[in-house]
Amino acid sequence: MIRLCQSDSAFTIQQYYDALQAQGIGCLIRNQFISGAAGDLPIQDTQPELWLMDKDDLTMAKKVLNELSSDSDEGEWVCSSCNEPQESAFHLCWQCQQPRNSA
Ligand SMILES: [Zn+2]
Repeated sequence: MIRLCQSDSAFTIQQYYDALQAQGIGCLIRNQFISGAAGDLPIQDTQPELWLMDKDDLTMAKKVLNELSSDSDEGEWVCSSCNEPQESAFHLCWQCQQPRNSA
């Protein structure tokens, strides 16, 4: 069993877990319900983690997660002038007023 990823968001980990399960990839979540004890533990031991049951699934699992994270970023963009990340609703950079999609 190998650790696939870690996130400070249990919601994100759950999303990943569901996506992998949907592809028939065996995985499990650790530290999902540990937040009550967080005060006594180092932070890296209290974040939810996604573990892969079979390392042979690693390539496929990473592919699934990549597709998932690119989906969730749909509509967001990065200013070509100042590299600030922008919400999809904006058509001008909030920082430097560079129009979207301008090279
Ligand atoms: Zn900008």
